[in-house]
Amino acid sequence: MKRLNQIITISLLMLFFASGCAKKKIQFSDLPKIDAHFHIRYNGPEFLDQAVKDNFKIIGILTDHYDLVEQENFILKQWEHHPNDLLYLTAFSMQGWDKPDWQEKTIKWLHSAFEKGAAGVKVWKDIGMEYKDRDGNFIMIDNPRFDPIFDYIESQNKTLTAHIGEPKDCWLPLDKMVAESDREYYSHHPEYHMYLHPEYPSYEDQIHSVEHLLEKHPHIRYVGCHLASMESSPEMLGKFLDKYPNTAVDMGERIDDLQYLDQTEVRELFIKYQDRLLYGSDQGIKADQDPLAFSQKVHKIWLNDWKYFSTDSLVTIHNTHTKVRGLNLPRKVLEKIYLKNAQKWYNWK
Ligand SMILES: [Zn+2]
Repeated sequence: MKRLNQIITISLLMLFFASGCAKKKIQFSDLPKIDAHFHIRYNGPEFLDQAVKDNFKIIGILTDHYDLVEQENFILKQWEHHPNDLLYLTAFSMQGWDKPDWQEKTIKWLHSAFEKGAAGVKVWKDIGMEYKDRDGNFIMIDNPRFDPIFDYIESQNKTLTAHIGEPKDCWLPLDKMVAESDREYYSHHPEYHMYLHPEYPSYEDQIHSVEHLLEKHPHIRYVGCHLASMESSPEMLGKFLDKYPNTAVDMGERIDDLQYLDQTEVRELFIKYQDRLLYGSDQGIKADQDPLAFSQKVHKIWLNDWKYFSTDSLVTIHNTHTKVRGLNLPRKVLEKIYLKNAQKWYNWK
């Protein structure tokens, strides 16, 4: 009998350890990952070499802020080094907006980018914050002149990715801002600091313009960059995602903003909307940077973000100085925010 008890105890112990092993936490380099918000404006292979080492693929995003052809050429060059590790989103120029052939020209440009392999189209905050039509009105993202462009993107089964508006901090004076990174950015970019430009569209105007666009194009696949500028309120972001089912959001350069919120609420947001959140760092490399130093910097950011999402250790997120406890998200959620959601929203097989 004693012998039988011993056998049962040993078997139970073995079972316990075996199940423990099966549930072992997934490690950073074991999970294939996608950084869904990145900017590559250089030709060398070093950065993507590092990404491959870290088991990352990259979505490179063009922005209507630099020369578009030049940015596209950087991407095409990167494809020569790493054909399977990079996807890209094109952008279009707002130059000539008031001319009658602007829409036709824009669709032609997008067509040629899709032929080259672009997976989607990025629009930037210069729409809503910078460009005005010939009558001096701000051009918002729900302007009817965009409708044929968005219809075309949808008809080609491509994704519309939009950085519209800014963090709520942008409409506050520097000393009232919540995030250190915002204070730092707007003190160097007064042109985008909306508190200084009360005649510009408000935070609410920006959000409404996106909602109106999505009401007009309910079937377009849409990714809102930077948590769709709703980094200050998980409740608001949740309502937005509920209301517009074809939308997801990336978290580029807003992981630090999450540190200022109640972490229980942040964790609930990630669990509830695990199918709608895309990991993205929003880092960018330029031709005049040291590519190895840059790659090491990004490697560190990736590791810290991973620690924040996957463990309950204390971690200091990029752009903050205080330690925060990690969210310790389940493996299933990590697989979605780091991989499956980007594959789905950018149709990356
Ligand atoms: Zn970006």
